[in-house]
Amino acid sequence: MTTLDFKGRAAKALHDPQLTGALARAKGHFALGRAAAKARTPDFEMLRDRATAIRRRSIALMPDLLERFEARATAAGATVHWAADAADARAIATGICKAHGATRAIKSKSMATEEIELNAHLLSHGITPVETDLGEYIIQLRGETPSHIIAPAVHLTKDQVAETFRAAHTDLDPARDISERQALVKEARVKLREAFLAADVGITGANILVAETGTIVLVSNEGNIDLTASAPRLHIAIAGIEKVVESWDDAGIVLRVLARSATGQDMSSYVTVLTGPAQGDEVGPRTSHIILLDNGRSTLAAGNKAEMLACIRCGACLNHCPVYTAVGGHAYGGPYSGPMGAVLTPAIDGLTKDTANLPNASSFCGRCEAVCPVRIPLPMLLRHWREDAYAAGLPTRGERWGLGIWRALSTRPWAYRLTQWSAARGLRFVSWWQGGRIKRLPFAGRGFTATRDIAPPAAKSFQAQWRGRR
Ligand code: SF4
Repeated sequence: MTTLDFKGRAAKALHDPQLTGALARAKGHFALGRAAAKARTPDFEMLRDRATAIRRRSIALMPDLLERFEARATAAGATVHWAADAADARAIATGICKAHGATRAIKSKSMATEEIELNAHLLSHGITPVETDLGEYIIQLRGETPSHIIAPAVHLTKDQVAETFRAAHTDLDPARDISERQALVKEARVKLREAFLAADVGITGANILVAETGTIVLVSNEGNIDLTASAPRLHIAIAGIEKVVESWDDAGIVLRVLARSATGQDMSSYVTVLTGPAQGDEVGPRTSHIILLDNGRSTLAAGNKAEMLACIRCGACLNHCPVYTAVGGHAYGGPYSGPMGAVLTPAIDGLTKDTANLPNASSFCGRCEAVCPVRIPLPMLLRHWREDAYAAGLPTRGERWGLGIWRALSTRPWAYRLTQWSAARGLRFVSWWQGGRIKRLPFAGRGFTATRDIAPPAAKSFQAQWRGRR
């Protein structure tokens, strides 16, 4: 556990060449994939509109839809549990495992289980969890948390993964060749197959909860979810309460925008649909439990950031964020990162000195909102958190002073113009003094010129030029 705050973690990330290299490669891959999917889907914007309306309506009707989901899932033979917070969800999950004598668990990738830190809790109760998503398996071996909501090991190079496998799979030939991706995947597959066959319980999340039939929908590209949910006799799904939608028509639209926005696919390779436990000679778990996790979501639904609950965890806002793609997910200090994490983490962990830094990790360029498949106004929600942090007195004295000065200037046009005129003259002088470019600034400007130089201000300000052209 690091003792650094967001600023410290971000600074450390920026000085890690392996990390910044891996992030640069991933950034292009995901953004290009989404752009290609958008280009071959003529009704993409209309799909986004429909998905936005569906998710907003689902959140508005959430209590009613959840009750309908519970009734239908129960009728199908599942047991539905309500968890008010992370501790509740952990206790319910371990209680179910103990009641069934389960000591070996397999898991599919689930941000909800990352959020409640389930693995450590299971281990402390004698239950060994094995992550079966390849990326999650790698970071579990390394003792790390995911650095991206759909690509947990995106921060790692293949050489780092090979090192990790050598350190963990000590029963295999140390001289084996695992320098290529295919060899790494093959080795992980062999190891995971052993875990699938030995497991007593499968634990998954849920991408969508369909109220009209009490069904859980899960998507993956590796097929591991099907095995996790169907190979062991016991299945536990842990899902945030906001995942509910009313109907299969709604679920279909969400699935169409999810895959295109996340990985650039028209549809995820595997869409797993589970309605209660297996019956008769059907293949699948004999016992099915669903834990509905609140953990701050009801409070979020009642406030001015309720739109965040529409999130379908596609990761597009991360892939297009200039801050996330520079510092990676671990800098955010929780399972959720990028713009969506900067809004969600203070809601889940509470607004503290550290989490209050997250809404400041934005240039407000607006790309997150522009690519979000459900049109969540992320910059506005980040702004709401900044207002809350200010009202709670969390910014430093220097930041409060700076904001106070800005407010004084921006509400007095004459003072603003005078300051701007003086600053421009001062900067032009510095530029002349330093050889035609501004290379070093003192005080607050020092960081700004630490890695770049700046052109001198134009002879006429933007406002003066604009007035002149009117
Ligand atoms: S906020 Fe929007 S873009 Fe970001 S993960 Fe959620 S749905 Fe995707």
